[in-house]
Amino acid sequence: MHEVGIADSIMGITKDVARENGLTRITNITIQIGQFTAIEADALDFAFQLMTKDTPVEGAELVIEKTPLLLRCKKCEGEYSGEIDNLSCPLCGAEDYMILQGREMVVKSISGEKIG
Ligand SMILES: [Zn+2]
Repeated sequence: MHEVGIADSIMGITKDVARENGLTRITNITIQIGQFTAIEADALDFAFQLMTKDTPVEGAELVIEKTPLLLRCKKCEGEYSGEIDNLSCPLCGAEDYMILQGREMVVKSISGEKIG
């Protein structure tokens, strides 16, 4: 399961941020995932909850924002937002594109508390 690896990298980033900022408890993590990554938000949340158990991250809210697909047609150079089930260019109909956005996984923000 691909989501376990993603949850693991979110945990790694979160721990670094917590250490750098002296946070003892993490309350919220907001991430952005591209639609092209095929990450299941539910599966990711599930993997994340399991992984954070008995850590300072336990109970943190994981907010998953999906970033839209942005493609550039190689034929007519037009940029368009694609649908996952229809990636052809709406301008010229070609299915020859570059992915500009939609494959990334970004940790947007991490919030927590300093206690003690
Ligand atoms: Zn085109």
